[in-house]
Amino acid sequence: MTTTIIVVNSDKCKASGECTKVCPQRAISIKSGKAIIDYDKCDSDGICVPACPQGAIELTKPDKKGG
Ligand code: SF4
Repeated sequence: MTTTIIVVNSDKCKASGECTKVCPQRAISIKSGKAIIDYDKCDSDGICVPACPQGAIELTKPDKKGG
């Protein structure tokens, strides 16, 4: 029941598109030079996080105690 949200730091994002290649759900697209996540598709697996050369994608866990 862990709530995990993927967020793109638009200040860091250079629109390299690496995240769009690795996402199994095809949830990421590049729009106006920034990566945009389609939360209807994203299943928060976190695969895109290490794929970003800029470290612009982060997993946030609002409920850290839920483990
Ligand atoms: S967390 Fe997984 S499903 Fe969501 S955008 Fe990243 S790679 Fe795609």
